[in-house]
Amino acid sequence: MIVLGIETSCDDTSVALVAEDGPLLEKTALQEDVHSLFGGVVPELASREHQRLLGPLCRALFSQSGVSPGELGAVAVARGPGLLGSLLVGLGLAKGLCLATGAPLIGVNHLHAHLLAAGIGQDIAYPALGLLVSGGHTQIWRMASDLDFTLLGRTLDDAAGEAFDKTAKMLNLPYPGGRYIDLLGQGVSPDHSLYPRPHLDDPGLDFSFSGLKTAVAEHVRKRPGLRMADMPAPGDPFDPGLADPETRVACASLNWAVADTLRIKLTRAARLHGPFASLVVAGGVAANSRVRSMAADLADRLRLALRLPPLALCSDNGVMIAHMGRKLALAGFRHGLDVDAIARGKKIPWDYKILS
Ligand code: ATP
Ligand code: FE
Repeated sequence: MIVLGIETSCDDTSVALVAEDGPLLEKTALQEDVHSLFGGVVPELASREHQRLLGPLCRALFSQSGVSPGELGAVAVARGPGLLGSLLVGLGLAKGLCLATGAPLIGVNHLHAHLLAAGIGQDIAYPALGLLVSGGHTQIWRMASDLDFTLLGRTLDDAAGEAFDKTAKMLNLPYPGGRYIDLLGQGVSPDHSLYPRPHLDDPGLDFSFSGLKTAVAEHVRKRPGLRMADMPAPGDPFDPGLADPETRVACASLNWAVADTLRIKLTRAARLHGPFASLVVAGGVAANSRVRSMAADLADRLRLALRLPPLALCSDNGVMIAHMGRKLALAGFRHGLDVDAIARGKKIPWDYKILS
């Protein structure tokens, strides 16, 4: 069965085809050049860009793959959580294609799709301990199967990705800044006393990253030299060597503080909710080199199989939506053409177990 995946939950416009043997083709357009002018995603501009980009991307996907819309076994679309106006653009296209072809419509939970991206091209051993670290979420999940997820912990305020992006803004780095902080910190020893590892005194599995952002802001206020002198233009090559050593230590320390906080909560989750067969770490921040090496060490220590998506499947992409939609379609799930979008922060009403 060939499934089309449509991803428009935030500022990446992406469509992909996935078949039995894996991804066939993906077409993605990033909107970084638009939003970086404002230092963050502007929701109305994001919807307009999706509206402009999505049709041509989809046409190119069909023509370059040689797959015709009539061959689709299902159309999967990110239903939420995300920016409402952005989600509606993807849902509109998905419903139109389903009407025209008769293919079933599958509304996919964007967060579950991030986690299952770790299973593209490799099986996930269940039960899995899942960590989703992205731009809007930081969550720990118990994954009993491909379609059975239980939330164990979540951030009470900022997501880990927001801590990276807001720090990057303070350091005069482009948006989204996590990638640049990662690069600047590579090969540099962190100062473990510079920033706090937040919310560790709480015995549960929830996170809180807003204090970390405040600690960085305080540090930057005291040391105004702690900024990149010139912000690189979006898409320009980035040379970490142009930053002064103190800025690089600040970045290495932030990478460490985030990764080590995640490590401690995951260790706790494994103790409280184990045994697990594997560790899954997914979402945009799972591209961070310090987070990836922490995950490898932890999996080794806890004797868990490690499942990390390849870098291209960490941040938003159409492949992960098609991959999860295909699993749902094969399990017999489908939505009606009246399915709605779920904005960020709203409780997600669906549970795959009760949809059959
Ligand atoms: P959500 O999935 O929670 O709705 P989102 O889709 O906007 O949010 P993703 O696309 O999964 O988030 O991830 C984007 C985030 O990942 C941004 O905050 C970005 O800075 C961060 N990020 C990307 N690469 C890295 C990296 N190498 N190190 C740290 N953070 C990174
Ligand atoms: Fe995402």
